[in-house]
Amino acid sequence: MHQFRSEQLLKCIHCGLCLQSCPTYLEEGSEADSPRGRIYLMRAVSEGRIHWEAGAIEHIDRCLGCRACETACPSGVAYGLLLEVARAQVEGSPARPALQRMAKRLLLSLMVRPKTFAFAMRTARLFSLLVGDRAMPMSLARALGAKAAVARLPLLSGKRKTLAGVYPSLGERRGRVGMLVGCVASVLFHDVNVATIAVLQRNGFEVVVPPKQGCCGALHVHNGFPDEARRLALRLMQCFEREAVDAVIVNSAGCGSTMKEYGRLFECTPHEGRARAFAARVRDVMEFLAEVHLQPPERALTGRDGCSHLVVTYHDACHLAHAQGIRKQPRDIIRSIPGVQLVELEEADICCGSAGIYNLLQPEMATRLLQRKVEHICATGAEVVLTGNPGCLAWLAQGLRELPKPIAVMHPVELLHRGYQNTTEPRNG
Ligand code: SF4
Ligand code: SF4
Repeated sequence: MHQFRSEQLLKCIHCGLCLQSCPTYLEEGSEADSPRGRIYLMRAVSEGRIHWEAGAIEHIDRCLGCRACETACPSGVAYGLLLEVARAQVEGSPARPALQRMAKRLLLSLMVRPKTFAFAMRTARLFSLLVGDRAMPMSLARALGAKAAVARLPLLSGKRKTLAGVYPSLGERRGRVGMLVGCVASVLFHDVNVATIAVLQRNGFEVVVPPKQGCCGALHVHNGFPDEARRLALRLMQCFEREAVDAVIVNSAGCGSTMKEYGRLFECTPHEGRARAFAARVRDVMEFLAEVHLQPPERALTGRDGCSHLVVTYHDACHLAHAQGIRKQPRDIIRSIPGVQLVELEEADICCGSAGIYNLLQPEMATRLLQRKVEHICATGAEVVLTGNPGCLAWLAQGLRELPKPIAVMHPVELLHRGYQNTTEPRNG
């Protein structure tokens, strides 16, 4: 279990074409923190020339898992797969201090339990109101890159009803889809889920949100715990398999890419065929809306201070652009909203530093990448930055909140929802 495939490692021809697209190489300028350097390390471990030890693990830990190197690679190296194996080996190795492994496991199990996570984040908010942001719970929220998102969380859980249920299509019915609400996203980005349901309804789809979905396993698989990821994935598949849906819609890039790769996660297990069938039905919300030819909003949006158009920019979430190859669809959809002017962002597909729990584990590099991203966003002159992943939404909001001229952070589906002038929560059937 957790072994490298030598044919994958040998695909790397050491050309170095991936180096300039690697955020850690751009920041550090060091071969060891480049994709090529990391592949060298993996190969050395695989061939038994070295073992995982602190000096090698450090470079694997510093990798964001953004997979920009996969996009750049002319040789088809599946770097994401190699990294998953490396991380699983590292977590199983004696070189990883047991306390660190336990703390990571504990944090992940907190995040994948929406009720417990919501309780922790509400406590953080309460503490910040009572004793300020320096209190310990808010420090955790800040380290997770979720300070801005937590600040908007209602203090009472009763104010927010669960979204589980069936939502009828509006107008001519075009199909029936399931929707993932996510674990962290269901707590911090309830509004994105509400907007996703409303936009799908508006485009003629009945939307089913199965209860007790839990987590898709992305956080675990990306952090070296594939067994736990499989357990979570099995529960999620079971939830959706009970429903007759044409597609499973996901508005989180990290979750969507993991769910599309369930076949790989369950490879050589009795669930492989089932996982592949499930994965084939998974669609990112932007990908799906483009496929079904979205009905654009009719009324134009306007900008701040009476401006006749709204200037926005778009940050490519890594697991949307690099892992799923979805770049054009969100841009086309954003441009189709009347009154919206899309200004391209420099280094749009370079990671913002969020990367799941990377901003907590590697705060220094994550903050450098956030500052780099914030500078590029400011240079566009946009009022709104759009991105399709909850981790990026939270991290960017945290980076942009202190600016003298505010820049809002939204999921593209929220802008669409606003464009439809549909401000009420979708009806539960
Ligand atoms: S996944 Fe991202 S950070 Fe890691 S090596 Fe590839 S480009 Fe660099
Ligand atoms: S671009 Fe691909 S083949 Fe070239 S060094 Fe990077 S990973 Fe290896």
